[in-house]
Amino acid sequence: MENCIFCRIASGEIPSATVLETPEVRVIADIAPAAFGHMLVLPKVHAADVTELPEEYVAAAAKAAKRVAVALKKAIGPDGINILQNNGEAAGQTVPHYHIHVIPRWKGDSFRAGWDPIENEGEKVTAAAMAVKACLEAEKEAEA
Ligand code: AMP
Ligand code: ZN
Repeated sequence: MENCIFCRIASGEIPSATVLETPEVRVIADIAPAAFGHMLVLPKVHAADVTELPEEYVAAAAKAAKRVAVALKKAIGPDGINILQNNGEAAGQTVPHYHIHVIPRWKGDSFRAGWDPIENEGEKVTAAAMAVKACLEAEKEAEA
């Protein structure tokens, strides 16, 4: 995708502060960090979000996020680390090329990762879980 900023960074066309490169991903420092040491894992193929990214790249990106988390812990010693990933505008995604955030956390920092639980809608929740399960089972049967 020639107009995608993260495709251009991931491919190396646009220089970046790269901390790790593998055949599948490039990990860079976030330009507007949520906390000190914030990194982004970018797959080298274009996919808008997790639903579109091929599974092998999902796996490669998760592995890279883990490796970077371990390195961050050793290198700068955060008090905690959030690994998160936004899909779609409603979920806070601003760049439509899949990426994983690896965010070191510092006691008293300004980042907020929590939420207020909604009311637990009992039967509705069970119905949603059943629908998802049926969908996954149908997919498994189609593959067999
Ligand atoms: P999201 O809201 O999950 O789509 O996150 C997009 C992230 O990309 C934000 O944290 C931005 O600060 C970061 N970002 C946007 N453009 C660049 C860039 N050119 N280089 C590095 N990070 C970027
Ligand atoms: Zn892209």
